[in-house]
Amino acid sequence: MVGQGTETGLTQNAEPEPRSLSLGGHVGFDSLPDQLVSKSVTQGFSFNILCVGETGIGKSTLMNTLFNTTFETEEASHHEECVRLRPQTYDLQESNVHLKLTIVDAVGFGDQINKDERPIVDYIDAQFENYLQEELKIRRSLFEYHDTRVHVCLYFITPTGHSLKSLDLVTMKKLDSKVNIIPIIAKADTISKSELHKFKIKIMGELVSNGVQIYQFPTDDEAVAEINAVMNAHLPFAVVGSTEEVKVGNKLVRARQYPWGVVQVENENHCDFVKLREMLIRVNMEDLREQTHSRHYELYRRCKLEEMGFQDSDGDSQPFSLQETYEAKRKEFLSELQRKEEEMRQMFVNKVKETELELKEKERELHEKFEHLKRVHQEEKRKVEEKRRELEEETSAFNRRKAAVEALQSQALHATSQQPLRKDKDKKKASGWSSIYSVTIP
Ligand code: GDP
Repeated sequence: MVGQGTETGLTQNAEPEPRSLSLGGHVGFDSLPDQLVSKSVTQGFSFNILCVGETGIGKSTLMNTLFNTTFETEEASHHEECVRLRPQTYDLQESNVHLKLTIVDAVGFGDQINKDERPIVDYIDAQFENYLQEELKIRRSLFEYHDTRVHVCLYFITPTGHSLKSLDLVTMKKLDSKVNIIPIIAKADTISKSELHKFKIKIMGELVSNGVQIYQFPTDDEAVAEINAVMNAHLPFAVVGSTEEVKVGNKLVRARQYPWGVVQVENENHCDFVKLREMLIRVNMEDLREQTHSRHYELYRRCKLEEMGFQDSDGDSQPFSLQETYEAKRKEFLSELQRKEEEMRQMFVNKVKETELELKEKERELHEKFEHLKRVHQEEKRKVEEKRRELEEETSAFNRRKAAVEALQSQALHATSQQPLRKDKDKKKASGWSSIYSVTIP
């Protein structure tokens, strides 16, 4: 039995040095690695690839070429309104190993005005958040949990032969602390060999000078250290994708056929496709998964937990207590709530005062208006009254004149009514004379 450190002089927290003992015979725990393999095989694996690059750069073709199958991907339009992350999960099986592969396409990225990397960052964070939420559950089931955290980002660079676009640098810089980035030069058959060589050097120089950290194939495992070191020097891989089979000699190979020749996908003299497949799938798939968990997720988790108020104890302080953190957080929350409540109350009081003042002002204005109208009304009334008086005076003057005229008229009438009598008398006199002289008076 290994000693338990009960000797005197040992403090309670000091770890006792385990004593090495040799076994008398075969016990069987040397089968642990096999048990682990068997358990992992039963459980299956998940691997998630994020493809970033403009529409039509060859992302879907490369995925089909890498996994030697045809994933049903609908063709993306060049006129997407914004960047949209489209994850698609497939169940693949090779020998007895099951792989749940998720390919995430950043649809619309880099096209026209869609130059925003924010949705990509948000997607990566959302997958970390989902995992963290599962971890924080009281009844968690990480064993069955479908891990959607992005294990690798294949960043497709346009084969311009010039330099990286600023969008590429900005995006990779934003992503490098969240995901393992493997930059690749797409459609490498469209650039000459010498140009490609210079382009690769230029890209690496720009990445270094802009502080962009791309994924480095690990060199700490002796078994793969050499090949990984060589491959690190080949980055970024210049790839050609094709699912078309062309007859070369008497063999059918995946290639792109042109009038002037054939570009073979798996010919290392033609492109770096084989190198990418080796590094991504055959040698470093587990390291990519591991790095995602231990580096990128760990960083996300730490920041999130610190944001939530959790912290580790340093050497001198008391051990970290969940209860204390909860209490401290609760107090902080309550005082924040109180502050907000007070702020809102004050705001409400101010608003009421403001409204009161406004209402008073309105009332004063209305009163003034009323007084003014009243004055105007009185003035109008006075004028009407005056007019009425004038009219009355005019009427009575008119009546007086009328009476006078009527009196005159009746006098005149009286006078004219006396005149015919005289006239008759005169007429009679005249007729007397006229009978004598027979004169006709007209
Ligand atoms: P995606 O929109 O990025 O997924 O691009 P696709 O994979 O749909 O490819 C767009 C076009 O580019 C198709 O016509 C492909 O045949 C072509 N293509 C894909 N890979 C290559 C390549 O390596 N070289 C060349 N020259 N054309 C390619």
